[in-house]
Amino acid sequence: MKIVYGPVSSWRLGKSLGIDLLCSEKKICSFDCIYCQLGKQSNKITRRKNFIKIKDMKKELNIALEKTYPDVITFSGLGEPTLAKNIDLVAKEIKKITDIPLAILTNSTLIGRYEVKNALKNLDIVIAKLDASNEKQFQEINQPAKGINFKEAVKGIKDFGEKFSGKLDIQIMFIKNNMNFSEEIADVVCEIEPDETQINTPLRPCAIDPLTEEQLSRIEKIFIKKNLKTISVYKSTKPKITLMDKIEIFKRRGGYKFEG
Ligand code: SF4
Repeated sequence: MKIVYGPVSSWRLGKSLGIDLLCSEKKICSFDCIYCQLGKQSNKITRRKNFIKIKDMKKELNIALEKTYPDVITFSGLGEPTLAKNIDLVAKEIKKITDIPLAILTNSTLIGRYEVKNALKNLDIVIAKLDASNEKQFQEINQPAKGINFKEAVKGIKDFGEKFSGKLDIQIMFIKNNMNFSEEIADVVCEIEPDETQINTPLRPCAIDPLTEEQLSRIEKIFIKKNLKTISVYKSTKPKITLMDKIEIFKRRGGYKFEG
């Protein structure tokens, strides 16, 4: 697996060059979301460690930036990027190489930890996942590793947001299990006060059906009514881009075929 992949066309971030801090063929995550495009995993982890070498990342990034100029560089990959212990060092090295904004897609489970909070505060955009409004839903939809609970995940995002000077976004995956709780989820989001709320539904093949455009549009209205700046996957346009390496992107999307 390569560390640097893409760029990919992202409905929320534009032309995004991916940095895979886990670099594993298999999912490494503290969640096992029922809609995960990467399939099920039995071994959920919360212990952080180093998965990649910084010198390898630098080499790959320099080569990639000779060929492409993305809107954003994003920590993503097959699992939860904050599980990488050296994320802060990687971020610092990237900042030495380029001024391109640095983003992360996180499942929010470790954001309450001091060292994770500290690492993420140096990024420009943090997109934190929140799919539930209570513990029961959280367990049912996200199936977290032992010891992770809803209240602490929400508190972690809130505490982080209070001191973060970059852009904090909340991403919510709506499926049939949480669609009737959009009002309650929107109330939790209001407490967090993010810069933007991103309403999503699983459009890539997985075990769960996506909601329709009409269903997602009804949910979006609930969020807008609460004065939350909201964007929705069905209404967003993706930039047209030239892919450098289709196979690397294909692997990270659970075998999902895409145009490009
Ligand atoms: S957080 Fe992301 S990678 Fe982890 S299980 Fe959920 S969807 Fe899959």
